[in-house]
Amino acid sequence: MNIHQALLAAQATLAPSLEASEAKLEAQLLLQHLLNVNRAWLIAHANDTLQTNIHEDFEALLNRRLLGEPIAYILGCREFYGLQLKVTPDTLIPRPDTETLVEAVLAKVLPDQTAHILDLGTGTGAIALAIASNRPQAQVTAIDASQAALDVAIENATSLNISNVHFILSDWFAAINNEKFDVIVSNPPYIETSDAHLSQGDLRFEPITALASGKDGLNDIQKIIESCLIHLKAQGWLMLEHGYNQAEQVADLMAQAGLVSIETIKDFGGNHRVTIGKNSLIVSAHWG
Ligand code: GLN
Repeated sequence: MNIHQALLAAQATLAPSLEASEAKLEAQLLLQHLLNVNRAWLIAHANDTLQTNIHEDFEALLNRRLLGEPIAYILGCREFYGLQLKVTPDTLIPRPDTETLVEAVLAKVLPDQTAHILDLGTGTGAIALAIASNRPQAQVTAIDASQAALDVAIENATSLNISNVHFILSDWFAAINNEKFDVIVSNPPYIETSDAHLSQGDLRFEPITALASGKDGLNDIQKIIESCLIHLKAQGWLMLEHGYNQAEQVADLMAQAGLVSIETIKDFGGNHRVTIGKNSLIVSAHWG
């Protein structure tokens, strides 16, 4: 069997569970991964014979995909904000929606600003690394409660050669001491524990601690908002991703905590996805 025939057969295998264009793309991605080649190579070598052992490995990967395993975990990587990131089942798979959160931060932090930024629950490091690479003058602290996730994030920082992020094992603010930040950003878990989506699609394979957060999905968001003022500089921003239907509750919680200039931002799909609020404290003047 040649590469072209193997791809067509793979596409047909995946077709019942995916859209046609996705089936074609994923078949190519899986074979590229096995052969360690790019798409152009695959197309140029369509008539090459596929070795039996590679063909068997290809079928095994197709099977994993058919059983629902996310393509990002099979490939071990996912692109986010132009960065190629390693992902493992210890980390959430970065979503395009979260790029909205990165853009919200970049809109507030000027390119030459030496801002201190804290990313809570960094996972693969996606948010922290996207900010750090676009704001080289900024110092980013990224925490996660999972050492396994932090190891992935550290590997991503190293392979992307991004040196203005440092990583700390911490349960939210627990290990942050007295440090204060210009921006605190987070994509925390925010799904209701009873949400049926948790047992569907990619979510089945992702770490539940990165997804679900109590009865209304707001447990962790609430914790972060309650403690944020201790760690925000005067006029510093808290920026949170949340569920499409949580904007009002998140804004209320921010207002109750005393944050001001609260605003919700939509993602590319038109859903309310990110809410931001500011520490109202004015930078104190120095006299004498
Ligand atoms: N946005 C993800 C989803 O709904 C959830 C990520 C999260 O809980 N932070 O699939």
